[in-house]
Amino acid sequence: MTIGLTGGIGSGKSEASGILRELGALVIDADIVGHETYRSGEPAFGEVVEDFGNGVIGSDGEIDRRALGKIVFGDPNKLKRLTEIVWPRISEALEKRIAGERDRGDTAVLVVEAAVLFEAGWESLFDEIWVVTAPENDVLERLELQRNQRPEQTRARIRAQMTDEEREQRADVTVRNDEDRAALAVTVKKLWTDRTHQGSQGRHNG
Ligand code: ATP
Repeated sequence: MTIGLTGGIGSGKSEASGILRELGALVIDADIVGHETYRSGEPAFGEVVEDFGNGVIGSDGEIDRRALGKIVFGDPNKLKRLTEIVWPRISEALEKRIAGERDRGDTAVLVVEAAVLFEAGWESLFDEIWVVTAPENDVLERLELQRNQRPEQTRARIRAQMTDEEREQRADVTVRNDEDRAALAVTVKKLWTDRTHQGSQGRHNG
């Protein structure tokens, strides 16, 4: 099965996907797939440069994501334009990647970590969508502690996103990350066991 894993900033997506990887899932990071869509030589490279100027090309000839980020940050129209260029291509690339992994048949469970899964409309790629949620105060604390990110900054980013309630309504499974990492591991493991014990997908459980 293919699981789409989403959630807000700092909710614990990477933490959860790390646990899933340890359990035997193959994890694909949609961000990395996204970066590949506008590598030089790919069609989106030219489109990004055409819209955002030569200033976004770094000294290595590739799109400089920091420069691009500075341009689109705080400018909803530009951000929208960028997502119009890259989201459909990421979707195509993910679809191909998922089909390729399926053909190889090495892994029973594929997990795609995608923060913008709902915003981008990628739902149909997945058999099941899991959303990781965490109380806002936990996120503020964790990101201050782990990333040295100021709570006001985190709060502003949370406000700019879809709410957890909206995500939960659209997801199949909610993974609450409101305790410590060990508790998250227990939650994820339970979900994993439920999935992998079903039918022929139980090969990881011996
Ligand atoms: P982003 O979308 O911003 O990349 P994310 O959803 O992938 O974030 P993580 O990177 O997994 O979130 O978690 C954010 C930070 O909080 C990390 O430093 C992580 O180690 C920490 N963290 C996650 N879950 C817990 C937890 N239950 N207890 C303590 N710290 C946690």
